[in-house]
Amino acid sequence: MITTQRFTFGPLPSRRLGRSLGIDVIPKKVCCYDCIYCEVGPTTRCTIARKEYCHSADVLAELRSVLESEREIDWITFSGSGEPTLNAKLGEMIHAVKQMSDIPVAVITNGALLFLDSIRQDLLEADAVLPSLNAVTPAIFEAISRPHTSLTVETVISGLRFFRREYSGQIWLEILFVQGINDGEDEVARMKGVLDELQPDKIHLNTVVRPPVESSACPVSLERMEQIRKVLGDRCEIIGDFKDIRKHREELPDPAAILALLRRRSMTVEELAVSIRSSTVRTKQLLEELRTEGKITAGKFRGIVHYGFSPRE
Ligand code: SF4
Repeated sequence: MITTQRFTFGPLPSRRLGRSLGIDVIPKKVCCYDCIYCEVGPTTRCTIARKEYCHSADVLAELRSVLESEREIDWITFSGSGEPTLNAKLGEMIHAVKQMSDIPVAVITNGALLFLDSIRQDLLEADAVLPSLNAVTPAIFEAISRPHTSLTVETVISGLRFFRREYSGQIWLEILFVQGINDGEDEVARMKGVLDELQPDKIHLNTVVRPPVESSACPVSLERMEQIRKVLGDRCEIIGDFKDIRKHREELPDPAAILALLRRRSMTVEELAVSIRSSTVRTKQLLEELRTEGKITAGKFRGIVHYGFSPRE
């Protein structure tokens, strides 16, 4: 059964992590970037200050209770409504989760603060860390990530360099391409030089697939993504749509579960149906009811309807 709790969400179909149970330890929307393609929403607090944004004991108690009833989880993933490394208790929470369960732990991060010793230390026990690096040229980095004023791309790359040396787990680096911003030949060639030095275990190439904060952030064509993949080399893969082929007992769609998922990010009817293990038809019916009640919104992005949480809720 999908969780509708305060800190945990899912398990959600993740294009990189299979069925991923999310843990959200940052309020919406606290981040050190304000990316033009962000699917969570505009950054309302741009900071590099780490804080205990929630009580880790509450997070862990909730996770423990979810794990008692939910069996089909491929990864437990710190991610969600902002940048998880800004939570000062992240290391303690990762350690506690590793004691609690054998399920591998991942952290999805923008990687901006890896130059801080405390953050690199906190991540050491995670099984996989999924940082992003969308540009290597200062002007392009600033155009796409709109970072906190204290951050430069050189600092970010140096943090990734330190982390690669110290961390023995998996580093799966994501590069998200936005048309006309970071997909040019020169930038891709410079990225190749940096990636050769950083040696991530995997490189995931992505583009804008959900409604972005800025409507000017347009996706890159599959053809261009293939060209980029060839330049960047064998470790690269273009991450495709998630297909969950496991058979599940079909459940009646639960409005609270749908609202809990949409509070974190917009999703298509198919993604929601997989997440809540219901049929597409029943999920669609419920979505239309919620939309009529004004609880959720619907809008097309790249010709596909995405449902989102209504600001009125
Ligand atoms: S995409 Fe990630 S790093 Fe960028 S603003 Fe959104 S939450 Fe922050």
